[in-house]
Amino acid sequence: MIGGGQLAWLFGEAAHRAGYRFHVLTPDAISTATRAADSVTVAALDDVDAFVAFAGGVAALTIDTEHIGTEALAAAARLTRVWPAPEVIATTQSRILQREALAPAGLPLVPYLPVRSVKDLTGAMAEIGVPSILKSATEGYDGKGQVRLAGGESPDDAWRALGAHAAVLERFIPFAAEFSVIVARDASGNCVAYEPFENVHNEGILDHTAWPSRLDDRLAAEAVSIARGAAEALGVVGLLCVECFLLDDGTILINECAARPHNSGHLTIEAAEASQYDQLVRVLAGLPLASTRRLRAAAMANLVGGLHVESSRFIPSGDPDITLYDYGKSYVDRRKLGHLVAVHPSDPGAALARALGERAGIAARARSAASR
Ligand code: ADP
Ligand code: MG
Repeated sequence: MIGGGQLAWLFGEAAHRAGYRFHVLTPDAISTATRAADSVTVAALDDVDAFVAFAGGVAALTIDTEHIGTEALAAAARLTRVWPAPEVIATTQSRILQREALAPAGLPLVPYLPVRSVKDLTGAMAEIGVPSILKSATEGYDGKGQVRLAGGESPDDAWRALGAHAAVLERFIPFAAEFSVIVARDASGNCVAYEPFENVHNEGILDHTAWPSRLDDRLAAEAVSIARGAAEALGVVGLLCVECFLLDDGTILINECAARPHNSGHLTIEAAEASQYDQLVRVLAGLPLASTRRLRAAAMANLVGGLHVESSRFIPSGDPDITLYDYGKSYVDRRKLGHLVAVHPSDPGAALARALGERAGIAARARSAASR
């Protein structure tokens, strides 16, 4: 695994359960995934020599973030299987390249224009109008690297505020709902998909997810077919998460894709026959894909510094229907510090209420512990 965050950690646990060893290359010697790794290589995510040495010792290699030097990945791919392929990661790590790869397949995208200068931005603002969002082409995550335009902003100021070399300007979509679909695709092109997850973001950061979503069967099937189409168009081997907007009139638009495990798929551990992490292990190992069938309803709530919790010390209630994941990170404002998953036999609304209640309880107990 290249990258040492919570996605890497949960992948590592699945790899261990399946009988494999799990090696991590990360810039941070002490990170969420290194707690569970068989070996840790500390290196920058664009260190060609370190990637080559690491790749020489592993049977297959994957990623938990797209913010990786593609030259280093390509060098690794000369020594071992790298899935998704370096070219795929190079495409998905750029909002511009990603959309240029999806559009020819006829997939529905948020209206946007690429922007590489103030001059481009001036033209794009005239064409896209307001409200709109300027997003850096690379390096963005959790709503970082975005500037919202409500009208009246000067292109100069907006471009300076973003501080990127390349960006997209896209229309602000007054969506009725957000959801995501996760697809697993193997090296022969076999593909399985989970039912859509319904997501709510707060300040650009995923706040909570419920499963199943409230999409009706027709929309859910359309969403899955869009996600499969995206995985094929991008040539992903591994996982692809397709984040979408649902409009009031039933239109589905792709917001962005990530070719790795995704925050919205955490709850597949508790609620599906095989989790997104199990699927990725199986793809890397060359095993047949497993069942994505949902066993129960579930909801996931993130524990984000400053948004939900004021410390990274979590005291769970002990509710047997809730699983708490503590990333073991030190407290940083706007950082994902953990998450919890609540399950219910059939009702995602009930699971969500339990998850949000537990999150509020964790925050309250931390506050009262701090004031003692
Ligand atoms: P990130 O890479 O940080 O996840 P996203 O493009 O997914 O960036 O943006 C984060 C969130 O911001 C989205 O999930 C959505 O809630 C909101 N958002 C992003 N783009 C738009 C848009 N064009 N219209 C409305 N909301 C948006
Ligand atoms: Mg996103």
